[in-house]
Amino acid sequence: MRRVHTTALLLDVRDLQEKDRIVTFLTVEHGQKRGVARSARTKFSRYAGQLQPLAKVQLSWFEKEGRDLVRLGEVELERPAMAIMEDLEGILLSSYLAEHMVHFAQENEPSPKLFRLLDSTIEALLAGVDRHLAARYYEIWVLRLAGIFPPPSICPLCAQPFPDRAVLMAAEGALVCPSCMPGGWTIGAAELELLRHSARQNLAQLSTRPPTAAVLNRIEELCGRIRRHFLQTELRSYQVMRDTLAI
Ligand SMILES: [Zn+2]
Repeated sequence: MRRVHTTALLLDVRDLQEKDRIVTFLTVEHGQKRGVARSARTKFSRYAGQLQPLAKVQLSWFEKEGRDLVRLGEVELERPAMAIMEDLEGILLSSYLAEHMVHFAQENEPSPKLFRLLDSTIEALLAGVDRHLAARYYEIWVLRLAGIFPPPSICPLCAQPFPDRAVLMAAEGALVCPSCMPGGWTIGAAELELLRHSARQNLAQLSTRPPTAAVLNRIEELCGRIRRHFLQTELRSYQVMRDTLAI
């Protein structure tokens, strides 16, 4: 049996049988992992208060050859994220951020960029950055790191720069120019600019000249369409968020 010690971001915590919890977490070196926290549901558990969603923790685990599910050892809370979850919208957004990693981070493969993305997004949200902007920035970057983000400057079909708009080619998950595809779902100049800026600027920089809510809505729709095309399904947390906040 091997013992591993590392920093992790907790993605999901669920009850398992009577006493235990099962924890999904993200690490730089080992990507996504799942582990059992034994007796975590008992009254005097050593995990009391430590297993919070999106928390950054120091954690150790024990693993056996050939087994994906590990056994958690010590968990030490380094940065709680409960402040993001003080209202319903914050709770829903947190599950949405976490579920992206469950789908996009590989198990047992180094994931330094995805880790950094989630880590810095949580940090920015804790610092009070606008949630709508943070969520869109995060969606864009998840797609970019997954290699499915459509280039926002040049049409891949004719190699011409986009004019003031681009059309989504749904079957390919690509943005093309209106000459190559005259009709379809379109984004405008402000959306293209945000897509380009997101490559060079961090959330704090983007917040100094925030895009309008209409631009952010359009980006949400674009990222959703590309993500669904790629995953062939919708993230459950997204559906729940949409349904709940629409009431
Ligand atoms: Zn074109």
